[in-house]
Amino acid sequence: MTMIDGNLQTVRDRIATACSSAGRHVEDVTLLAVSKTFGPEVVRVAHVAGQRAFGENYIQEGLGKIAALNGLPDIEWHCIGPIQSNKTRPVAEHFDWAHTVDRLKIAERLSAQRPEGRAPLNVCIQVNIDGGLAKSGVAPHEALALARAVAALPRLRLRGLMTIPEPVPDFEAARAVHMRAKALFDQMNAQGLALDTLSMGMSADLEAAIAAGSTMVRVGTAIFGARS
Ligand SMILES: *Cc1c(COP(=O)(O)O)cnc(C)c1O
Repeated sequence: MTMIDGNLQTVRDRIATACSSAGRHVEDVTLLAVSKTFGPEVVRVAHVAGQRAFGENYIQEGLGKIAALNGLPDIEWHCIGPIQSNKTRPVAEHFDWAHTVDRLKIAERLSAQRPEGRAPLNVCIQVNIDGGLAKSGVAPHEALALARAVAALPRLRLRGLMTIPEPVPDFEAARAVHMRAKALFDQMNAQGLALDTLSMGMSADLEAAIAAGSTMVRVGTAIFGARS
């Protein structure tokens, strides 16, 4: 057994424990393995261990891994880093998901550039849930309008919301921030959207995110180790 097998099992156990504490079904939380900065051989090891969804922050780096691992059964690639307008085409052509849509212009380009032969690109709206000044993400009060516009684009499938809150010192504080995202998610569904994905929680705060209602945790360090 490799280190990655052991780490993956530990993370799966953490998710299962968090789900059971929250009275949730473990199948309702997807583990996205964040492989940024690690090479394709590491992704391959995780894939052998049963992991299927991988997250990449840097588009160029991600494209190299997607090409190197082309053909691995059921592998799924999620773009979780910023997308500049001159980088929409490779995302539209090669990824399965984009988590960081926070402008209509980016969504329109992704839709226009999504190849006809592929399923619609799955999209999450990134929300700046804690008002971090330097952060990407749409303000919470702008999320509904953007989501409606994105949902109308033909080659995208709007799936939900994504957040990257600032680290906070303890579980309760982390859960409180994640609860704001969950409240927004519920409110948007009550207003007629059909969102099924709440992408929030990382290595340090996945339990708090699951307690608040996360359906997809994005975990890097706890699976692959520290990044240099
Ligand atoms: C790097 C990254 C992660 C994973 O963070 P870890 O703390 O290593 O688990 C998750 N989401 C985003 C957007 C990231 O950039």
